[in-house]
Amino acid sequence: MKKKIQSKLLQWFEKNRRDLPWRKTQDPYAIWVSEIMLQQTQVATVLPYYQKFLKTFPTIRSLARAELSQVLKIWEGLGYYSRARNLHQAAKTILNRFGGKIPDNPESLLRLPGIGRYTAGAILSIAFNQETPILDGNVKRVLSRLFAISGAPQKTGKLLWKYSASLIPEGHARSFNQALMDLGAMVCTPKNPLCSKCPIRKICKAFRLGEPEEFPSLIVKKAIPRIEAIAAVIQKEGKVLLKQRPPKGLLGGLWEFPNWGLEGKKDLKRFLRFKIKNDFGLKVKCRELLGPFQQTYSHFRLTMNVFNCEAIGGGVKGRWKWVPIQDFDQYPMSRIFRRIAYATISSSTEV
Ligand code: SF4
Repeated sequence: MKKKIQSKLLQWFEKNRRDLPWRKTQDPYAIWVSEIMLQQTQVATVLPYYQKFLKTFPTIRSLARAELSQVLKIWEGLGYYSRARNLHQAAKTILNRFGGKIPDNPESLLRLPGIGRYTAGAILSIAFNQETPILDGNVKRVLSRLFAISGAPQKTGKLLWKYSASLIPEGHARSFNQALMDLGAMVCTPKNPLCSKCPIRKICKAFRLGEPEEFPSLIVKKAIPRIEAIAAVIQKEGKVLLKQRPPKGLLGGLWEFPNWGLEGKKDLKRFLRFKIKNDFGLKVKCRELLGPFQQTYSHFRLTMNVFNCEAIGGGVKGRWKWVPIQDFDQYPMSRIFRRIAYATISSSTEV
């Protein structure tokens, strides 16, 4: 059965493989970048970012030598910014410890920030054709159906890794692992899998059972909490107050407007004036509401009420920066703050 799965999948891949830019190279650096970008992100979203990233940082050396701000700027809009910070940090380590060459063994790869078992397996198999298994969402689904494995992901994970490792044909890891990925993306889809077009349907246990969609077991998603926050676009002589977040943690290294959790406060302008005075020593006039802005993150849904404010006295305490409105574009921001920045630019040109 193993031999049949291998040959059917390899033949199918030969004819049906997706034409993707990172498939046109065997450069471990380009493959590593693509795999990091593809984590929790759709191929179509990744495509323009991948091209731009490699154009700006064509080598590990150029990435390692760049400022974090430049890297975040290229990454802006792709989300999960820790991926960009880890890529940058790992590039520095690769340059210093491995002479700029991506290591070709799992021990060294797994010690680099941002590289887990899946990414190490993808780099080793796709770039170096080593027989190392992979297990992302697509592969998990294909294998769960092929072998009719159900149960909570924590319980089935070990078994699926085992299947993934045992199926790789000698000398064909590169094609076989990508075949599994492509089958999951194009044929064995989460809903309405195209079993009639599947090269392994005769062997697939879930297909024989007649209920492929029952595998893998559905994860019951918890409702994510809603968070209300308030932010201020504080203007002074054509400049606006911005702050860079600390390098580690959520949205680390990105720039933002002053903001606070709302904690159920009702008089928004009063709360905002108090916070600005208390945190920066700045006296402000709060003007109109620029708008509520919304953004969904992986663990919460954020509504940010943003007010235009004008500084009328006092100085700024802490590490904040007055930035000319026309320079906003040079500062990497998360999606919600970029939208606020655009709204600020258009409201200032309307006047
Ligand atoms: S036969 Fe259907 S369920 Fe089984 S692997 Fe193929 S597409 Fe998936």
